[in-house]
Amino acid sequence: MSHRISVRETGAAFVAEPGELLLEAANRQGVRLPHECTFGACGTCRIKLLQGRVDYEEMPPALSEEEANAGYALACQARPCSDLVVSVQRAKVVPAPERRQAVVRSLREWTAQVVNLELEIEADDLQYQPGQYMNVLLEDGAHRSFSMASAPSGRRVDFHVRRIPGGRFTDASLRNLAAGDRLQVEIPLGDFRYHAEDYRPLVMVATGTGLAPIKSMLESLMDDPDCPPVSLYWGARTAADLYLADEIRSWGERLYEFDFVPVLSRADAAWSGRRGHVQDAIAADFDDLSEHALYMCGSPAMIAEAKARLLQLGASADHLYVDGFTFQHALAV
Ligand SMILES: Cc1cc2nc3c(=O)[nH]c(=O)nc-3n(C[C@H](O)[C@H](O)[C@H](O)COP(=O)(O)OP(=O)(O)OC[C@H]3O[C@@H](n4cnc5c(N)ncnc54)[C@H](O)[C@@H]3O)c2cc1C
Repeated sequence: MSHRISVRETGAAFVAEPGELLLEAANRQGVRLPHECTFGACGTCRIKLLQGRVDYEEMPPALSEEEANAGYALACQARPCSDLVVSVQRAKVVPAPERRQAVVRSLREWTAQVVNLELEIEADDLQYQPGQYMNVLLEDGAHRSFSMASAPSGRRVDFHVRRIPGGRFTDASLRNLAAGDRLQVEIPLGDFRYHAEDYRPLVMVATGTGLAPIKSMLESLMDDPDCPPVSLYWGARTAADLYLADEIRSWGERLYEFDFVPVLSRADAAWSGRRGHVQDAIAADFDDLSEHALYMCGSPAMIAEAKARLLQLGASADHLYVDGFTFQHALAV
């Protein structure tokens, strides 16, 4: 039996055939729902079910049991079991993506793995929400995603790119890029962004270059009288991987109340800071997260583990925002 799905915010409606995935049905009928990885790992396609039920062949990694119980679903993996009314509210305010030319302005090797790439995007009216990302378009039409690491301000945008050994873009192409080179990009994308309407203290969790979108959000909150208290947990393997630690320590001067906690999983004996995984450090510092808003960015594996732990500490699925750095080579282009 087919099921009718309506989207509350836009009034759009479409039909899912028996056994069809919700996102596939939407795409087939030209209804645009935000999505990225399409295998349930990144969480971009999270929607809220206002009426009706869905099921899954397998529970997707980016959806916890608590979130499912709170009425959330991942459109790319969910199969409707009844007519549905869904909300995509989180995604509604972002500007539409456009193809642009970008000029490389600088490339700096921050560590053996992390490159700071500064691009000038050729657009007079460049707009994005801190937390969003762009796609670099490759010659054959494939793309690679990178989050804006700076708050919107003119045409120049900063990126933190982790080199993946053997990676087509982050290794091969990046080694040959130089100032003045041009890239084709699609910008802005994604619905990871700051939710000022929450009015809650923030716990922000990043691993590695997952810091990038969080930095963009925090830069946009600097000197803002409405900035809530912020605790930033940044996970890495060794002290050498904390490529921006000194700069981050200085953010306290411009954020209303700021606590920075770097956490190392493979620290040497010289490290006197926190050890282990970010979620362990948060669990040691907070008994109850029910009054906080949580932002998480990093590998899908970290997000799945940390999210489960933070929900156990009382975090609300309604105030939990995640961005998973999935790999594009596994995706359809
Ligand atoms: C929304 C979004 C935002 C992102 N933002 C950032 C960002 O700001 N900074 C950043 O450094 N990365 C970011 N990523 C991850 C980044 O897009 C990938 O690392 C990148 O696509 C790798 O491209 P490549 O061509 O170098 O590797 P590929 O040629 O695609 O892959 C080469 C090999 O490496 C593996 N691989 C690819 N990516 C990763 C990875 N991230 N971790 C581990 N193994 C990998 C692949 O499975 C493959 O075996 C983001 C991803 C998404 C979805």
